Amino acid sequence: MAFFEAMKTIRRSDTAPIHIGGLEVSRLEQSEAFFHHQTDAIFVFDAAGTIIYFNEHLPEILGYSEHTLYEHFSVFNPPDQMEAVSQFFQRALQGETVHYTARGLHADQHLVTLKITNMPIEQEGHVIGVYGVARDVTREKQLEEDVSEIRSQLELTEQVPELVLFYYDLRSHQIEPSPSLLKFLGLREEQSSIEQQRLLERIHPWDFDPLRFEIERMAAGKQDQFEQELSLLTSDGSYQLLRLKAVRRAGHAHQASIVLYDLSEIDAARQQLKMERAQARDIYEAVNAAISQIDLTTGRILFHSQGFLHIYEELPKNLILNDTWLLSRIDPRDHDAMRKFMQRLLQGHAETLQYRLRFPDGRIKWVEDQQIPIFHSDGSIAYSNSILHDITLQKAYEEQLRQLALRDVVTGLPNRQALIETIESWQARTVPFFVLSVSFNRITEINNAFGHGSGDQWLQATAARLNDVKPDEVFLGHLGGDEYALLVSTDYEQDVTPCAERLLAISTQPISIEPYALFARVSIGISRYPQDSTDAVELLKHSYTALRRSRRDDHSAFHHYASNLDIDYYRRYRLEQDLHYAIERDQLFLEYQPKVDSWTGKIVGMEALIRWQHPEWGRIPPNDFIPLSEESALHIDIGDWVLEAACRQMNEWSKTGASLVPISINVSPKRLLIPGFEHQIEQTLTRYALDPTLLELEITEAALIMDDPMTSRTLESVSALGVRIALDDFGKGYSSMVYLQRYPIDVIKIDRQFATHIYDDAKAQAIVKSILYMANEFNLYVVAEGIETIQQLDTFRMLECPRIQGYLFSRPVPSDVMEGFLIREILYPIEACALSSDTVPRFSVPGKIRMLTHHTESFTLAFSDLQAHQTSTKVLYFSTETPLPSHAATCEIRLNEGLQLVTCTVTIIGQQDGQYMGEYTNETEAEQIMRFFQSLRYTP
Ligand code: C2E
Ligand code: MG
Ligand code: MG
Repeated sequence: MAFFEAMKTIRRSDTAPIHIGGLEVSRLEQSEAFFHHQTDAIFVFDAAGTIIYFNEHLPEILGYSEHTLYEHFSVFNPPDQMEAVSQFFQRALQGETVHYTARGLHADQHLVTLKITNMPIEQEGHVIGVYGVARDVTREKQLEEDVSEIRSQLELTEQVPELVLFYYDLRSHQIEPSPSLLKFLGLREEQSSIEQQRLLERIHPWDFDPLRFEIERMAAGKQDQFEQELSLLTSDGSYQLLRLKAVRRAGHAHQASIVLYDLSEIDAARQQLKMERAQARDIYEAVNAAISQIDLTTGRILFHSQGFLHIYEELPKNLILNDTWLLSRIDPRDHDAMRKFMQRLLQGHAETLQYRLRFPDGRIKWVEDQQIPIFHSDGSIAYSNSILHDITLQKAYEEQLRQLALRDVVTGLPNRQALIETIESWQARTVPFFVLSVSFNRITEINNAFGHGSGDQWLQATAARLNDVKPDEVFLGHLGGDEYALLVSTDYEQDVTPCAERLLAISTQPISIEPYALFARVSIGISRYPQDSTDAVELLKHSYTALRRSRRDDHSAFHHYASNLDIDYYRRYRLEQDLHYAIERDQLFLEYQPKVDSWTGKIVGMEALIRWQHPEWGRIPPNDFIPLSEESALHIDIGDWVLEAACRQMNEWSKTGASLVPISINVSPKRLLIPGFEHQIEQTLTRYALDPTLLELEITEAALIMDDPMTSRTLESVSALGVRIALDDFGKGYSSMVYLQRYPIDVIKIDRQFATHIYDDAKAQAIVKSILYMANEFNLYVVAEGIETIQQLDTFRMLECPRIQGYLFSRPVPSDVMEGFLIREILYPIEACALSSDTVPRFSVPGKIRMLTHHTESFTLAFSDLQAHQTSTKVLYFSTETPLPSHAATCEIRLNEGLQLVTCTVTIIGQQDGQYMGEYTNETEAEQIMRFFQSLRYTP
């Protein structure tokens, strides 16, 4: 809108003149041009504050387009300023002319600083609007601020004690004093100017002329700046070396800005630094380590000692030690560790790492790198101090020591620890492999019989034999004694059987330990990685468990580990625990097996055989717990118990009127080594009023092979009592005649193995014949053990074996049955019944079983075989070769026939006639099993 138009809208009358700030504007049309040509922004508000007129400068200042400016002034003011601006506007409305500085809101949202004048527009004594003038002073304002900042910076500079700053007039030679100069000269502040002389006085005469020369050149316009060193007299009377720098002052052609600063201190510091550096360097160079400082952001080596070059043998290009350079020199095996090391370092941790440097010629250097990060004041990492040692030699020693620690001294083979480490490293290759535990089973015997020298020879010889037999790819280590382990990768051999057989074949060739040649009894246990375990120690243990199974079954055999072996292991463990309480809980008892005259069947003696009725595992045969008892002192208590029980029983029988025959008890070899055995026997016999000739001790060759004087002494004493000594299992071991000569042996019991083959084995017959012949010569009493059939009996009769012990005449029986025998005096061979004491089930279904829990222990074991015989609605009857506890065990059972498969969970509630009774835990399962059985029985 034009000025004229705008005024027309607010004026009260067309005739009365309008006054703006006291100036009369009578001709509105003519005023237009005047307002337009102002350099400031001109605008008019109506009484309500809305802009109704503006000249071209307002849009320029505020950046709005013309038609958007006709708005209330609040639009152009930042909110925080509105109140103040409104007050100025009100004052103008009340007739006052006001001046103020305010910020205007520019169209693009930045603020501009405006100097504003508001004048009332009056007509006929009424304010009808407000006239405004605005000037953009943003730039001035900025300059003002800059100036004040510069000033404050200057003030700051004045604060720096080492700097003296002042202006010098080149024409008048007056000095404009600054606080720093006043301070320097020791003057008070009132001085407005200082004469040149005051300063020149203090300058050392030598420096005086050169300075005047420079100043004159500057005054003459020949130079705009200069520098000079000069010595100045200080207030304490000494000269101080200063540097003076003069620059022509900007905007003041005849003035120079002069700065003086203390050079001596800086110089001293520089000297000191230089010296310290040199010292440090001397030290760095003297040590063997590589000392360096590395900028962690750029990888630049800021500093390095000679040692760095010595260790790395070269420097990185441009001294930039980056990952690529470093990793290309580090052995790949250590790359991961190095990356982690760097990461930790960058996180600000001081770290030490040992790694290998690999050189192009293949050499390896072990180094130990110790790095300490150094931080900027803001906490970010500036650089790292690194100390690098060459530890190759130390590593070599360490390795040598390690190798020594990992070898068995006698065989020179890797030891158990080395084996475990190797298994672990093989696991990393992820190729399946076998662990074979191999035992030669003779070391104890050889040590005992021939001494430890021979024992060591045996170990060396067996190790060497294994080494010869095993393929190169197979790893061989020593477990202890004459036991070894081999690792066979499936890479090399898919099936381990041929390898195991080759090892077994070792037992067919004698091994010589000068001057002897002995045969090994090789047994092997095998476990597989990863099927049997992924843990190295466990793999070894499993192979050893399997080895024990092989050893038990028969020497010269190998067995694969199966986790049901673990039940054996577990059972053994439980039995070992429980055996301690067997006597006090009255779980042991004796059975008696008669020895008869081979022709007449007349009972001539009997053997007392121990049994253990375990509440959970059922009846335990002596071979399962006597060896356990011999591992501790328990065998003494058990032996005493047997002696006592047998004698007591004899005493009881003597009262019944039955005709008594001698009773024999089995004695552990170790028992004979314990002093006082003979006294105990004597006392017991006396207590039960027994004739010593009614007692016989059965000992095995194992007792004699030790050849201990204690053994022979004990036997002599016992024999002197009148107690007979029998050599049990004769023919099974060495069967040395020497024993017969050296020890007071009265009876030979021919081992059961001869009975097994006697009928059609001419050699067995020949041996038995010669044993009998020899016994006759030595005047020994002979009993043949293990006669089960009439045929065997006939053969022994033919060989003129006088006495027989075996199932054919009777199994071991309880005391009351034996009592009946004693009364009868004569037994008849009963072959038909010989094997029928266990109820042999007529019907059975094959299946699998595994134990899930026993008391509170739970297991994850593999399945073993089972035969299920019959079922009721509540109980399944089954048998299995794996011994199970007779109660408190839950088992999973799977039965299958053809395509049918049924499963159930049972709790074992007892054992009877060799069958376990498993109570169903779930009715539905019980029903399914019932139906399964029916379907099998009734299929035609
Ligand atoms: P042993 O002294 O040779 O006892 C004979 C073993 O052969 C007994 O086994 C007996 O049941 C078994 N036997 C007897 N006749 C026949 C037969 O015709 N055929 C077969 N197949 N076997 C027959 P048992 O009772 O299992 O005892 C095994 C071994 O345990 C005994 O062998 C003995 O060495 C040891 N033992 C038994 N009782 C005691 C004991 O009280 N103390 C000690 N230290 N050892 C004992
Ligand atoms: Mg015996
Ligand atoms: Mg025997």
